[in-house]
Amino acid sequence: MLLDAHAHIDVKEFDSDRDQVLSRCEILIVNAGVDLTTNLTTLELSKRYRNVIPAIGFHPEFIERVEQELEQIKALVNIAPIISEVGLDYFWIKDETLRKKQREVLEIFMQLGQAQNKPLIIHSRGGMREILDLVPSYGVRFAIHGYEGSVRDALKIVELGGFVSFPPIIVRDKGRREIAKHVHEDHILTETDSPFMGPDKSRNEPCNVRITIETLTEIRKAKREEIEEKIMNNFRRLLGPHFSSLGANLTNR
Ligand SMILES: [Zn+2]
Repeated sequence: MLLDAHAHIDVKEFDSDRDQVLSRCEILIVNAGVDLTTNLTTLELSKRYRNVIPAIGFHPEFIERVEQELEQIKALVNIAPIISEVGLDYFWIKDETLRKKQREVLEIFMQLGQAQNKPLIIHSRGGMREILDLVPSYGVRFAIHGYEGSVRDALKIVELGGFVSFPPIIVRDKGRREIAKHVHEDHILTETDSPFMGPDKSRNEPCNVRITIETLTEIRKAKREEIEEKIMNNFRRLLGPHFSSLGANLTNR
């Protein structure tokens, strides 16, 4: 079975053919909410589609309106196995006060992850150092989604026990292919970030993780089945005790 560790299939781009998109291949999809509304939609989707796993979070890009939504989102974390989308985004947010707020909010989610023993799937644009500084203080299990940093930081993620997640854009991104060469295969995940980060500029979709797998297979000179199995095992480690609650998601597809 394939894994899409990070997607947004709740968006309107999938309204016309969501059923087909979600049944094109055998795949587990982690759908990440980015604010209160999309967290609620994510929970709905996970009820409707057994291969959708809900992740609850707040995207750092929307930091300006966090106060209105945070308390309700924190309550939703209780009923999902994964915390996402959370993280730091210094690309869209330049204001230092707002960046500081992003770090505070990320720490709140790390506290929740620690208290509930749930993993965080983290977004980072420009904030990798701060994230890597914070992780050890909370000892949380984590993955960096759509990772686009240096090889050195990727190795640091591995050292901290984290996972580096690769989207299909890897086929047209030399930097990410280089990183994939260096990250031990016990620490890799596949994702799509659908509808973004596709193999080309068109709408990306979960089953495109096959393209990432193909690239990883070439880079690592491994068998496709081996890579797929590794990735599912890695996902199991990321989820820890919460993996078993996915029993129904994993059978009879
Ligand atoms: Zn995302």
